[in-house]
Amino acid sequence: MNTSSSRRTLTTPQRKNPPMCQHQPLCPTSDSADREAARLVAHHPEQGWSLLCNGVLLFEDTGELLPDGQIIAPHRPRETGQVMTAA
Ligand SMILES: [Zn+2]
Repeated sequence: MNTSSSRRTLTTPQRKNPPMCQHQPLCPTSDSADREAARLVAHHPEQGWSLLCNGVLLFEDTGELLPDGQIIAPHRPRETGQVMTAA
């Protein structure tokens, strides 16, 4: 019985030290309040996310996932009256 071989393979390798910008001026770091101003390195509107140069994953709902695994809650400026509950 071999049931442990169905482990899912992640397509995104985890890097503890992502390469910093290859351009000037450098993008704001992922722990900066200005992190969303970093350059886009990947944009997937059909999937609802973008990858910024500083390693931040920016989601369509303005939520963010930082390189260190920290999650920033969506902070969209409109529809503030609605509170979404995760299933
Ligand atoms: Zn950059």
